[in-house]
Amino acid sequence: MHELRIAEDLAAMVEGYAAEAGLTKVEKINVSFGQFIQIVPDLFVAAFSEAARDTVAAGAELDIEIIPAELRCLHCGSGYRPAGDLCACGICGSKEIALIHGKELFVKSIEGE
Ligand SMILES: [Zn+2]
Repeated sequence: MHELRIAEDLAAMVEGYAAEAGLTKVEKINVSFGQFIQIVPDLFVAAFSEAARDTVAAGAELDIEIIPAELRCLHCGSGYRPAGDLCACGICGSKEIALIHGKELFVKSIEGE
């Protein structure tokens, strides 16, 4: 399952941050995902509680923000937001596209004690 693999990565990241911050229990995790990571938030929350079960983040609440995807056309330089999946440039039709935003996965902050 896609969500479980990402949840395991996130649990490992949170453990690292918690260790740096000297936290022994993480209560809340504010996390941002790019639109193209395409997680289902409910599935992700369930996967995370499984992945984090034996970590300092066990039982932590997740606050998930989705970052809209943004593409840039390498042919004409237009920046745009795709309607669905990666698609051709709406201005010139080129398929040489760079992804500016959309595949991010990062922890904005963690709260705990
Ligand atoms: Zn273009």
